[in-house]
Amino acid sequence: MKINIGIDGPVASGKSTIAKKVAERLGYTHIDTGAMYRCVAHYALLAKIDIKSESEVSALLPHLFIQLHPDGSIFCNDQDVTSIIRSHEISNAASTVAAFSSVRANLVIQQKRMAQDKGFVMDGRDINTVVLPEAECQIFLTASIESRAQRRFLDLQSRGQHVDLNIIKKDIQQRDFNDMNRLDSPLKISKNAHVIDTSNMSIDEVVDMILNLAKEVMYD
Ligand code: C5P
Repeated sequence: MKINIGIDGPVASGKSTIAKKVAERLGYTHIDTGAMYRCVAHYALLAKIDIKSESEVSALLPHLFIQLHPDGSIFCNDQDVTSIIRSHEISNAASTVAAFSSVRANLVIQQKRMAQDKGFVMDGRDINTVVLPEAECQIFLTASIESRAQRRFLDLQSRGQHVDLNIIKKDIQQRDFNDMNRLDSPLKISKNAHVIDTSNMSIDEVVDMILNLAKEVMYD
C-alpha cells in the first residue's frame, strides 16, 4: 500500500536531504515545499519590489509558474533556479514572504494538488499540520542549533558562499522565530508526529528510522 510521508522541522534540520533519500528508497516522489517559498522570494527580489509588503508580493503570484522536476531541478517561469534559490539572501527573504497568508494560500493549493494521490514524501514547515494532515507517516525532525548552523555553513561553503558561522546561527534563530511565531500556519509538531532529534545521527540512520516507521504503517 502506498502512503504519504510528511516531514516538518526547523531550518537546516536535514529535512530535504532526508526526504529525498527516503523517496528514492521507496520509489516515491519528493516534494520540497521550501523551494516553492524560495521561488516566490527570488521572483520578488528580481522584480525589486518591497518584499515586506504583502500586497506587492501577492500581486506577483499570478505571474509566477513554479516547476519541481523529479530530478530535483527547480524552474521558475522556465528559468532553472535550482542553485540560485539556495543563497543566504534568498533563505532570509523566503522566511519573510512565507509569513504572508496570500502567499501560503496560493502555494498550499498547489502542494495539495501535487500530492493528491499517494506515494509522496513532502517536506516543509506545515505539511503535517496544514498541507497533508492525513499523511499516514508524520515526522518532525529537529537538531541542536549548533549542529544546524554547522550543516548550513558547510552547505553554503560547498556552493562557494562564505558566510560567518555566527551570522548563520543568528539568521537560523531569526528564521525559526519567524516560522514558529507567524499567525498563519506556524511551525509546530503535529499531534501524530514522530519527533526525531538528528543532532547525533547520520543521514542514513535518520533515513532508516523513517523507513522503518513508514513500513510499520504500510504493512499494518
Ligand atoms: O525549508 P527551506 O529552508 O528551504 O524553506 C525556506 C523558508 O520557507 C523557510 O524558512 C520557511 O519560512 C518557509 N517555508 C514555510 N512552509 C513550508 C516550507 C518552507 O513557511 N512548508
